[in-house]
Amino acid sequence: PQQAPGLARKMDPTPDHGEESYRGSGKLTGRKALVTGGDSGIGRAAAIAFAREGADVAIAYLPDEDVDAREVMSLIGAEGRKAVALPGDITDESWCKELVDRTVSGLGGLDILVINAGRQQYREKIEELSTEDFDKTMKTNLYALHWIAQAAVPHMPAGSAVITTASIQAYQPSPILLDYATTKAGIVAYTKALAKQLIERGIRANVVAPGPVWTVLQPSGGQPDEKVKNFGKDSDFGRPGQPVELAPVFVLLASSEASFINGEVYGVTGGKGIA
Ligand code: NAD
Repeated sequence: PQQAPGLARKMDPTPDHGEESYRGSGKLTGRKALVTGGDSGIGRAAAIAFAREGADVAIAYLPDEDVDAREVMSLIGAEGRKAVALPGDITDESWCKELVDRTVSGLGGLDILVINAGRQQYREKIEELSTEDFDKTMKTNLYALHWIAQAAVPHMPAGSAVITTASIQAYQPSPILLDYATTKAGIVAYTKALAKQLIERGIRANVVAPGPVWTVLQPSGGQPDEKVKNFGKDSDFGRPGQPVELAPVFVLLASSEASFINGEVYGVTGGKGIA
């Protein structure tokens, strides 16, 4: 199975996501952001932080019975910002194009692109990783990155920012995440190359590489309870991060304060490191 949201929910120590602790100070006033995976976890925290910093925000997501996207929409609306909901499957190339078009028409432009949606699955043995599984992870984590960036970039003016979500798995791959780790290394390479290409247009691109963060995605895939219990215990803080603890990095990379930051990878790993 892709994930066991019920299990993650039950053990969730932060059902409120901790996001009320994020206070904005107008760093993104008037900006227009698209966040894929914006209904849940890390993307949700980034979307809400962007709105608190003054941005209008579109969120793209795969409808999931355990996640109510209306919550994020209303939190963005509560900041007096425009919110656009984009439910759909990013493994479909035509939807990737359409969701960008709907963002541009709904928000009146696009200058912050966060490609963050992702999937993972645990497979203990190489024999268990089917072509179908492999393909789905590639499409969700890598192809969709290209499809969405390709559709979005022509709309983005100088001063815009692209941010992708990779993972510590790009640097310290787990033996049971062959496909996932491969896509995350690909995201790093793609984003660095894109950064070099787009800087001519005045668009910066950077990567956030999270370590263990407590979300629906993590811990997932029907892992033994013991592993779930120990998730993130090996960070310097003895716990996984909360999504809101990544939000300041997304805000920095999106903002004009990051004017000399391009093609970089920001690890937010609780000290586990990405080198
Ligand atoms: P999450 O499950 O809360 O969010 C995943 C998001 O991706 C959801 O919004 C979901 O709707 C979206 N998504 C998945 N498949 C999709 C599809 N086919 N079409 C459209 N949307 C789709 O998990 P999260 O932990 O917040 O994950 C966000 C990103 O962070 C992912 O790229 C993940 O790989 C990465 N990451 C997470 C951790 C962690 O420990 N949680 C660590 C490293 C990297």
